[in-house]
Amino acid sequence: MLIRWFFAAVFLIILAKAADPASAKDMTDMAASSTGPLVAFTVDDLPFASGSAMPLTKDDAATARGVNRQLLQAFARHKIPATGFVNEQRIEQIGQPTGLAILAAWIKPGFDLGNHLYSHPDVNMLTIESAEMEIIRGEASIAAVMARGSRRPEYLRFPFSHTGETKEKHDAIAAFMAARGYRLAPCTIDNSDYDFARAYRLALDRGDRATLAKIRATYLAFTGSALDWYTGLNSRVLGYEPPHIMLLHDSVLNADTIEATIALFTQRGYRFISLGQALSDPAYATPETITKYGPMWGYRWARERHVAIDGSAEPEPPGWIYDYIKNNGEGGPGIVEHSIR
Ligand SMILES: [Zn+2]
Repeated sequence: MLIRWFFAAVFLIILAKAADPASAKDMTDMAASSTGPLVAFTVDDLPFASGSAMPLTKDDAATARGVNRQLLQAFARHKIPATGFVNEQRIEQIGQPTGLAILAAWIKPGFDLGNHLYSHPDVNMLTIESAEMEIIRGEASIAAVMARGSRRPEYLRFPFSHTGETKEKHDAIAAFMAARGYRLAPCTIDNSDYDFARAYRLALDRGDRATLAKIRATYLAFTGSALDWYTGLNSRVLGYEPPHIMLLHDSVLNADTIEATIALFTQRGYRFISLGQALSDPAYATPETITKYGPMWGYRWARERHVAIDGSAEPEPPGWIYDYIKNNGEGGPGIVEHSIR
C-alpha cells in the first residue's frame, strides 16, 4: 500500500505532459482487437506462499501440495497455460522431496516454471554481483526438473518487480539475465493478494470461519475492481488493451478462490494465453523504466510514453483487512508487503 501510494504521488509530480496514445502501427499490430481480451496467468513464490513472514518448514508440506493441486487442476480444467515462479530457498525449507514433487506437478502436464531468485531478495538492497548469485542459485531445482523434459527456464521475475534501481545496476543485471537465456516476466495486474492471503492465513489459524468467508468475498470483489482499473490504465496509456499478465501468489487463499478468479476473466470475455504469447505484444517491447519501486507495467508504460496517470484513483483493499492483520498477527501492512509479496 505504501509503495502504491508513493507511486501515485511520484507519477503525479513527474507526469505533466499531455497524453500520447499508441501509434496506428501498434493498433494494427494488435491482434487482441479481433480476438477479444487476452490474459496470461502467473503464480509467484512456489513451492508455497504460506501467508506468513516465517520461513516454510516441513510441516507446510501437505498444505503446499494441496494448494498446488487445486491451482493446477483449475488451470487444466480451463486450459490456462500458467507459469509458476520459484524461490529455491523455499524448496530447501519445505524439504526437497516435497519441493521437487510440486515443481514436477507443474512441468509434467506442460505448465511452465520460471526463476524468482533464490531467497526472494529485494534487488534494491543487493549489489550487482549478489543479484547475479541469487539468479544462479535460484535456478537449481527448476533447471533440474525442467531438464528431464529437455527444457530450460525461460522467464525470470524479480521479487517486488524490482529490476534494478539505477541504470548501471539495471543494465548489468539485464545483460546477465539475457546471457543466461532469461527473459524478464512483467505483470500488469496487482490485486494485493499477498495482503488478503496474510489475513486469510491468520483467520485459518484462528478457525474464524465467518472472517474466512468475508475475506474470500471481499478479495474477489477487489480482484474484479483491480482488473478493471488496470485494463483502463493500459488502454489509456497504449490506446488499446494489451494482453494482461495476472500476478497471483501460491497461497491457500488463491487455491480456495481460483475458480471464481478465473470466472472474473471469462465473464469479461477473456481468453487464456501463455506468458510467451502475451509478451509477443508490442507493448512488452517498450523500453524498461528504471525505478526503485515495483509498479505494474501500465505505470511503466505511462512513464515511457509520457502519459499522465492519476495513480491515486487506483482501488485499495479495504482497511479492515489491514486491521485484522494488525489485531491478529505481528506487523502492519508495510511489513506484510515487504515480507511476503
Ligand atoms: Zn514473490
